[in-house]
Amino acid sequence: MEAAFRLNINALAKAGAADGIVAIYFNERAGIVQIEPNRLTLIFNGKIYKAVLERKTIFGDRSCTVTRCLTCARIRRSLVLVDCKLTCRECAGLIYHSNSGHEAERIQAKRMKILDRLESLDRRKKWQHRATRLRLLRALAALPPA
Ligand SMILES: [Zn+2]
Repeated sequence: MEAAFRLNINALAKAGAADGIVAIYFNERAGIVQIEPNRLTLIFNGKIYKAVLERKTIFGDRSCTVTRCLTCARIRRSLVLVDCKLTCRECAGLIYHSNSGHEAERIQAKRMKILDRLESLDRRKKWQHRATRLRLLRALAALPPA
């Protein structure tokens, strides 16, 4: 995969507010980003890419410009240009969901929470319903090994 060029949508919209044109440089090549009220057009390396622009309200009275990924249609603050495609980082495969360290931590936290509620593995906690205990034991058994 070639290097990815990241387009910060809000920054480009702000920069392009005056005359609607922003020059970009990537891999020693120049490109142009044209900003229109509801559309961003990127012209780079002989290709034209278009993305919609939307205003998104943040903190009530403030707003920023966002776009939608052309692949997954989700609202994004930035898009990446990689392998002649303009998509979000997730669709470009630049974000990895299964970070093993994080996942193991999450499972361990879940295990501790269940064990805490069970109090003891071999006898029922006072006032705890049999059905609740069964549900917790099943949830514990369903967790992947540490
Ligand atoms: Zn996407």
